[in-house]
Amino acid sequence: RTAVVLLTADLRVHDHPPLRAACGAADEVVPVFVRDPAVDRAGFTAPNRLAFLADCLADLDRSLRERGGRLVVRTGDTVAETCRIAREADADEVHTAAGCTGFARARETRLRRALEEDGRRLYVHDGVDSVVPPGDVVPQGSDHFAVFTPYFRRWSERPVRAPLPAPRTVRVPEDLRSDPLPSRADVPGVSAGLAAGGETEARRRLRSWTSRHLGAYEDRHDVLDDRAGDGTSRLSPYLHFGALSPVELVHRVRAGRAGEEAGPGAAAFVRQVCWRDFHRQVLAARPDAVREDYRPRHDRWRRGDEAEADLRAWREGRTGYPLVDAGMRQLAHEGWMHNRARLVTASFLTKTLYVDWREGARHFLALLADGDVAENQLNWQWVAGTGTDTRPNRVLNPVRQALRHDPDGTYVRRWVPELAGLAGPAVHEPWRLKGPDRAAYDYPDPLVGLDDGLARFRQARGTD
Ligand code: FAD
Repeated sequence: RTAVVLLTADLRVHDHPPLRAACGAADEVVPVFVRDPAVDRAGFTAPNRLAFLADCLADLDRSLRERGGRLVVRTGDTVAETCRIAREADADEVHTAAGCTGFARARETRLRRALEEDGRRLYVHDGVDSVVPPGDVVPQGSDHFAVFTPYFRRWSERPVRAPLPAPRTVRVPEDLRSDPLPSRADVPGVSAGLAAGGETEARRRLRSWTSRHLGAYEDRHDVLDDRAGDGTSRLSPYLHFGALSPVELVHRVRAGRAGEEAGPGAAAFVRQVCWRDFHRQVLAARPDAVREDYRPRHDRWRRGDEAEADLRAWREGRTGYPLVDAGMRQLAHEGWMHNRARLVTASFLTKTLYVDWREGARHFLALLADGDVAENQLNWQWVAGTGTDTRPNRVLNPVRQALRHDPDGTYVRRWVPELAGLAGPAVHEPWRLKGPDRAAYDYPDPLVGLDDGLARFRQARGTD
C-alpha cells in the first residue's frame, strides 16, 4: 500500500501527524510539496519567504533521505498535481494538515472531491499548525473568537496532546519524478540579514534559546536594545513554515530543564504562542478579515499624494521618528522585526499618519520571513483598532515607547547609523538639537508632530 502526504505549511519530520499516519497505514509513502502559482497570484509570496522556504525544503529532503526516503517536488495546481501523484503511485489515500485560511480550506474541499472521483480518500489532520485547532476552544456565554483573555483561559486548561516522534524510516517509491529543489541562491531580492530556514536550524535555535533565555523572557521580551538580541526566540518564521511544531514547542517550554519547574518566563512565552492560535481561530471564523475590517470603524483613511508620500517615508524608514525608522530598517535588513517595534511602527502608520492598515500589512508581508496571513492581518487590525483590541483607540507614542523599551538608544543607533553620534536617550529626539548641532545629522525632521497626529486621529474616529 502507498499513501501520499501533501505538505504545505508543515515542513518537518518531528511531530507530524499526517506523516506518522501515512507511515502507519502504508508500506510506501510519498511526501510531496507542490509549488503552486495560485499562491503567487494571491499575492502572498515574497523573496524572503521564498528563500526561507527553499531552506526548509532542502532540510526536509535531507531529513527524509536520512530515513531512506526523499521529498518529491512538483509545480502546478496543488489539487491536480496531488491527484496525478496519487495516480502515478497508485496510492489509496492522501494525508494533509488542516489550514486556517479560506484559501487553504477551499483547496481542501476541491482536493477531497477530486480524489473521491478517483476512488481515493483524503485525511485532513488537525493540530499540525496550531496547539489547539481553530474552533475547539469555545468559552461559554460569550463570542468565542472576539476577545483574547477568555480564549487564553480556556486554551490553557486544555491538555496538549503528546508530540509524535519522527518516523524512523520513510520508504518512497523509486520511479516518481521530482522537480529540482528550489535554492535560496536563485531567489533575487532577499534581505541580507535573513536567517537560515529549516527544521534542523529551528530545533537548534529552540534548544539553545530556551536553555539560555527562556527564564528571562517575562522581563526581557519587550527590551529592544537587548545586546544579545535574544530577548525573544525568533522562532516565528519556523512556526510559519511548520519547520517547528507548535505542540512540541509548548511541551518543551512547559517541561523546562530537567528537575526544574517551568517558571514565569515559560508561562509568558506560552501566552504569546496562544496569540498565534487565537488569530488562527479568528481567521477560520472570519476568513474575510484578511482584507475586511474585523470590526468596521467607518475609517476614512488618508489618501492622495501627501498620504502616499508619508507611506513611502514610513516604508523607507525616513519618518523622522528614530524608533519607527529603526524598526522599518530592521525589517528591510533582516526580514524580521521585534514585536515591540512592529507595534510602534504599525501604530504610527495607522494612528499618527492615519494611513489604512492594509497598506502597512502589505508592506510587512512583502518582507517578513514569518509573514503570515492570520498573524499579520490580525495583528495589524489589532493595532489599527479595527480588530480584537478591547481598547481600539489607544495610540502608542513612539518617543515614550523608545525611552521605555530602548532606554539607552542602542537599538536605534544600530539601525539608524546616521544618528550613531548621539549618545544615550538623546538619540530618540534629534529634533531637540539646535542649529549646527542639528545640521550635523543627515536625518529628516518628523513627518508630523505627535500632537497634530493625535488630534487628527481623534477627530477622524470621533473620540474627541
Ligand atoms: P517570541 O516573543 O519569541 O514569541 C514566540 C512565538 O509566539 C512567536 O514566534 C509567535 O509565533 C508567537 N507570537 C508572539 N507574539 C505574537 C502575536 N502578537 N501574535 C501572534 N503570535 C505571536 N507574527 C507572525 O508570526 N507573522 C506575522 O506576519 C506577524 N505580523 C505582525 C504584524 C504586526 C503589526 C504585529 C504587531 C505583530 C505581528 N506578528 C506576526 C506577531 C509578533 O510580532 C511576532 O510573532 C514576533 O515578533 C515573532 O518574534 P519571536 O519569534 O521572537 O517571538
